Amino acid sequence: MIKIENLVKTYGDIRAVDNISFEVNEGEIVGFLGPNGAGKSTTMNMLTGYLSSTSGKAMIDGIDILEQPLEAKKRIGFLPEQPPLYLDMTVEEYLNFIYDLKGCKLNRKRHLLEICEVVRITDVYKRIIRNLSKGYRQRVGIAQALVGNPKVIIFDEPTVGLDPKQIVEIRNLIRTLGKNHTVILSTHILPEVSAVCERIVVINKGRLIANEKTEDISRLVDGFRRLCVKIVGPKDEVVAALKATQGISYCEVLGEREAGSTAYLVESDPGVDIRKPLFFTLASHNWPMIGEEAMGTNLEDVFLALLEKNDERKKRAANAGGTNANGVVRGVVTGKK
Ligand code: ADP
Repeated sequence: MIKIENLVKTYGDIRAVDNISFEVNEGEIVGFLGPNGAGKSTTMNMLTGYLSSTSGKAMIDGIDILEQPLEAKKRIGFLPEQPPLYLDMTVEEYLNFIYDLKGCKLNRKRHLLEICEVVRITDVYKRIIRNLSKGYRQRVGIAQALVGNPKVIIFDEPTVGLDPKQIVEIRNLIRTLGKNHTVILSTHILPEVSAVCERIVVINKGRLIANEKTEDISRLVDGFRRLCVKIVGPKDEVVAALKATQGISYCEVLGEREAGSTAYLVESDPGVDIRKPLFFTLASHNWPMIGEEAMGTNLEDVFLALLEKNDERKKRAANAGGTNANGVVRGVVTGKK
C-alpha cells in the first residue's frame, strides 16, 4: 500500500532524510519511531506530497506521489503535528470546507456524520473550534483526515500536548481506525508505538536503523529490564542477596521508603525476566517486597541497542552476502533473526 524507495531530503549540508526505504502493507498499523530531529516529519511530509524529495520515490497504492499528486493524495488522510484547523469555524463548517477542498463525492451529510461518530465529536458538531479542548481539537483534526475515506492515514505525533486520559482515547481511536485503514503513526514515544502498532520502523539521524515486528522491539527493550523494588529487610544483606541472584546483573540502593522499606534499582541480564527469581530470593529470607515498578527504558538505550544489533547484522550479512541499500538486512521485516 505504501512504498518508500531510497528517499533523500537535504537542506543545504543537512541530510534530514538519508536514503530511506520501507513498505507498509494494506491494513497494517506501522509505527515510525525516532528521536526529535531524526527526520520523521520530513519523511511524512514527502510521503504526503507536502514536500518534494531530493531523490527517491514515495508510492501510495502504486501511485507515485510526485508524478500523480492529486490521485495519490486522494488515498491519504494526514494529521500533521499541528492540525490545520480554522479556529473561527464550527466543526460542521470546517468539515464541510474540507469535504469541498478534497472534492469528495460521497454522500455529504451521511459521510460527515459517520466520521463524527467514529471520532466521537457529534456532540460538538455545532461548536466553534476555538472553544474546544485540545483533545477535541485533535479529534477534529483526525476527522478532517478521514474525509473522503482514504485508504491510508498518517498521524504525525498525534498525542503531543494531550493529557493522559486524552492520550489513551486517541490511541484507542487509532487502533479502531487501523481495522479499516492502513496507518502510519509517527512518534518519538516508544510506549505509544508499542501500544498501537504491529510493526515499528525506527530512524535516527535520517537513516533507517530497524524495521521489525513490535514484539521483537519489545523483547529488545526487555533486554534492559530495570525494576525499582521496595523491600523490608536489612539493606546490606538485601543487596548482597540480590547481587547473588541468578539473572540480576546490577543492584543499587535508591533510598529509604515508607513502612521501613528501602527502594532498590535492580537490572537484569539481557532478555531475562527476573521477577520470579527475585521473589524466591526474598521469600527465602522472609523479606517482604511491598512494591515493584518497571523503570522507564531510556529511548536512547534502545536506539543504541538497535544500532549495535544492526551493525552486527551488517557484518554477518556482509560475510554471507547482501544487505539492502540502507544496510538493513532483508528479512528483518518478517521478524526472523
Ligand atoms: P523529526 O520529525 O524526527 O523531529 P524533522 O524531520 O523535523 O525531524 O527534522 C530532521 C532534520 O532536518 C533536523 O535536523 C531538522 O533541523 C532539519 N530540518 C527540518 N526542516 C528543515 C528546514 N526547513 N530547513 C532546514 N533544516 C530542516
